[in-house]
Amino acid sequence: MKTLAFATIAQLKQKLAAREISESELISFFLDRSNKYNSQLNAAIEVFDRNSIDQQERKTGALSGIPGMRKDNIAQQGQGLSCASNILKNFVSTYDATAISRLKDVGAPIIGRANLDEFAMGSSNETSAFGPVRNPWDIERVPGGSSGGPAAAVAAGMVPWALGSDTGASVRNPAAWCGITGLKPTYGLVSRYGLVAYGSSVDQIGVLARDAYDTALVLSVIAGKDHRDSTTLQRDKYDYTAALTGKIKPGMTFGIVEDMIEAEGMDPEVLAIVDATIKDFEKLGVRFKRIRIPVLQYCAAVYFIISRAEAASNLSRFDGVRYGLRNKDAQSLNDLYSETRHDGFGNEVRTRILVGNFVLSAGHADAFYQKARIVQQQIRSDLLDAFKDVDLLLTPTVPMPAFKIGAFDEANKLQLDLMDYFTCFANLAGLPGLSIPAGFTKERLPIGMQLVGPHCSEELLLQTAHAYQQCTDWHKQYPKGYEE
Ligand code: GLN
Repeated sequence: MKTLAFATIAQLKQKLAAREISESELISFFLDRSNKYNSQLNAAIEVFDRNSIDQQERKTGALSGIPGMRKDNIAQQGQGLSCASNILKNFVSTYDATAISRLKDVGAPIIGRANLDEFAMGSSNETSAFGPVRNPWDIERVPGGSSGGPAAAVAAGMVPWALGSDTGASVRNPAAWCGITGLKPTYGLVSRYGLVAYGSSVDQIGVLARDAYDTALVLSVIAGKDHRDSTTLQRDKYDYTAALTGKIKPGMTFGIVEDMIEAEGMDPEVLAIVDATIKDFEKLGVRFKRIRIPVLQYCAAVYFIISRAEAASNLSRFDGVRYGLRNKDAQSLNDLYSETRHDGFGNEVRTRILVGNFVLSAGHADAFYQKARIVQQQIRSDLLDAFKDVDLLLTPTVPMPAFKIGAFDEANKLQLDLMDYFTCFANLAGLPGLSIPAGFTKERLPIGMQLVGPHCSEELLLQTAHAYQQCTDWHKQYPKGYEE
């Protein structure tokens, strides 16, 4: 059965079409696997029961009977929506996110809600109130974050695809550390309606899957304008698989950002994989140009300020009155707010709210928030300038492989935030980024490479990655112990 567990969506669709297996059997197969491996990995906060899956109102279409999971910060009607936080532990959503309703419209069964860092704040999935997720390649290690649950679930063959969200790294980082493909689309390509807001100006729902082709399949379903989210781009439905011919667009030039390659803390094994990836793409006819984008040195700091500022204001709605947890002993309204928020939020979230309110406060907003906005504009314009010379940028997704659970304590947590340097520039500029499996360390931990393109270059990114995946097999590897 291992071919089924690690089959791509495209292969599963063929099996369904050939009637080798029925939709119902496929759902049972992945449901059984999800229940079996979740006890070890903690990838899902809840694997749904068969009844509730069968009750989902699904039509038939491109993903009929192909099970997936959603990160538990994406709303699904009648199901829990915890954001991995105690404050929403028992909260049930009354409506579907647009991405979820579009998936139901093409027949996709959602079989569980995946674990995450609390409110998507983190890089390792260790801040979840429901406990850390384990990386299927080495269960002593983190899967990356904040979409660690969706990534671990796909990597362990619990589901063939999952939805995540990416504010600074959160689809690409865990995709890289779990050896799968992960796309953060252009800001506004996928509706954020029903995605619990963290940093609204940088959040995007993204796709985690086995390869570029499957990613394109899911993206084709969820992308496109939505009258419920005024920040969506005026794009009609589009088939992102159409351009996946297996060939690369002729005459492509990739930029290698030297500032990144030379970054402090870059693991030599990751660097060796960068070199090997360059050689593979050269064989496909890609030319490389070394470039410098000095303003990127500020991107982690700018992201730090903007994401905290937006988080502080977005999370002010969790006050014990409207949603979720409510402190029962409070004697006054102020006590109700502060006690509920104290009980409901974990350390990481509380710290970020404090920092966010500080950088927005009178007397400090000019020095921090406004300045960060100005530098963000510069980052955006320097990146757009870079795309006058090169078609795509190639960077490591994360500068090192997955670390052991607990390796970063409070004292050295800042290093974790610095890892966002490789990915958050794409969010700050609204650009799409795709992480693809590109090799393994000596300890057999997956390493991902990231392709970033100009706005709305998803088709080019996926076409390029698909061509690469026709002549490499990193994306076909799966962790030991999950065969049956
Ligand atoms: N590590 C980043 C953060 O903690 C990214 C998280 C995300 O993309 N949701 O904010």
